[in-house]
Amino acid sequence: MVEQIIDVVIIGAGPAGLQAAVHAARKKASVLVLGRVENSSIYQAHVENYLCVAGVTAGAELLRTALAQATLVGAEVWPEDVLSLAQEGEKFIVKGESGRQVTSRTLLIATGTARKKLKVPGEKELLGRGVSYCVDCDANFYRKAKVAVVGNESAAVDGALTLTKYASEVHLVCKGLAVTRELAEKLAASSVVVHTGVWVKEIAGEKAVSGLVLDNGQTLAVDGVFIELGAKGAMELATSVGVLLDTETFSYIETNKKQETNIPGIYAAGDIAGPPWQMAKAVGEGCVAGWEAANYANRLKRASESA
Ligand SMILES: Cc1cc2nc3c(=O)[nH]c(=O)nc-3n(C[C@H](O)[C@H](O)[C@H](O)COP(=O)(O)OP(=O)(O)OC[C@H]3O[C@@H](n4cnc5c(N)ncnc54)[C@H](O)[C@@H]3O)c2cc1C
Repeated sequence: MVEQIIDVVIIGAGPAGLQAAVHAARKKASVLVLGRVENSSIYQAHVENYLCVAGVTAGAELLRTALAQATLVGAEVWPEDVLSLAQEGEKFIVKGESGRQVTSRTLLIATGTARKKLKVPGEKELLGRGVSYCVDCDANFYRKAKVAVVGNESAAVDGALTLTKYASEVHLVCKGLAVTRELAEKLAASSVVVHTGVWVKEIAGEKAVSGLVLDNGQTLAVDGVFIELGAKGAMELATSVGVLLDTETFSYIETNKKQETNIPGIYAAGDIAGPPWQMAKAVGEGCVAGWEAANYANRLKRASESA
């Protein structure tokens, strides 16, 4: 059986990702978008500085129109998070939280920014002394330790599963899980102790984290707390395939005017590609990135046909 290779896989279903999908699909490229529209930072907001939108318009409404537009021109959309990326020669392997895997000629990272904060006492004070925002970066420091992960989505569940390979005890604190059935089943089959319907009131500790005070009155004695709110962090995904970040702040993906990263075939657009964090910029970069990624994929196809 011939393996199906998608021309452009777009990670992120916000303004940047959806605009990229429209432009790539109109260039006759096959396009798959992975991501949840409701998790875009504009979804809950109201917009009044975006060209051609009169008055104050709900972000959710703009995104609903954008999603319909992207699918109308032929892009496929899977409302799920990407958990891992890999490169094999000129191809990219993308794994989603449902366990589905796709192969693509190009990757377009449009995951937005933000390490969301819990905003509870102890979080700021104990940062780097037991409080972490990145399981992939810091799991190794917690070998044989007791840890907790806080969050409801794929980043938290994937993070808790990863930590079972390091820590002696892993707790997951969530209000309620918002992940695919497949990921929820993996969690249920693991050793992670899940605390559902609760949230964190305080991170306790003097010089380092000693526990997590929950809003049901319970205290979990832990040595580390991983705050993993939202989807799998874009930075971890990008750096896992060798994409370079800006050298001054290491907080966004460096791109050129074609939205190319340092890795041929990988593009980035929107908030993840740096400030200003505005929809107009995200859409503009999405347009360029989608256009360029489709051209790149089409060039690869022509080259392999004439070889
Ligand atoms: C409160 C607030 C008000 C704002 N008001 C304005 C305004 O008035 N005007 C304006 O221009 N801008 C405004 N902004 C900024 C604007 O929301 C962003 O600049 C814009 O949404 C950036 O688009 P994006 O596509 O880069 O990222 P986002 O819109 O954040 O979309 C990111 C997408 O990536 C997905 N994603 C993340 N991780 C993964 C993963 N691992 N796998 C798959 N998908 C993933 C998310 O689910 C989401 O679909 C506001 C932002 C906020 C927070």
